[in-house]
Amino acid sequence: MQLDESLPTYPMGAAAHMLGVHPRTLRIYEAEGLINPCRRGGKRFFSHADLIWIECLRSLIHDENISIEGVKRLLQYVPCWKLKNCSRDERINCPRFRHRGKKCWEFSQKNCEKSCDNCEIYTEKNET
Ligand code: SF4
Repeated sequence: MQLDESLPTYPMGAAAHMLGVHPRTLRIYEAEGLINPCRRGGKRFFSHADLIWIECLRSLIHDENISIEGVKRLLQYVPCWKLKNCSRDERINCPRFRHRGKKCWEFSQKNCEKSCDNCEIYTEKNET
């Protein structure tokens, strides 16, 4: 059996526990638009790929001393692997990198209630 790394499997409490953070921290990252967990029945679920990215995000904030605002700004210009300067091996082994071609609604497996025509993410991506 192969693990689908993009499947939102871990509820908030489990994800926070695995990452060694308070659930509030994850809610802050989400409110800042840095993570986009799947929501089902009002609960958030995280994939393995989400957890990998959150670890990298925390490293940028706590080891590299980049503010949340700074990370947000930088991610407008470069993907995470450039920001984090990931080696070729790190990229190949990273589900976030391997799934980089996926659209947000495929990656988070969200039941998106918006029409793509009105979605700022979709329309911005198609304008660039
Ligand atoms: S590509 Fe690099 S920075 Fe991005 S989530 Fe993977 S390991 Fe982290």
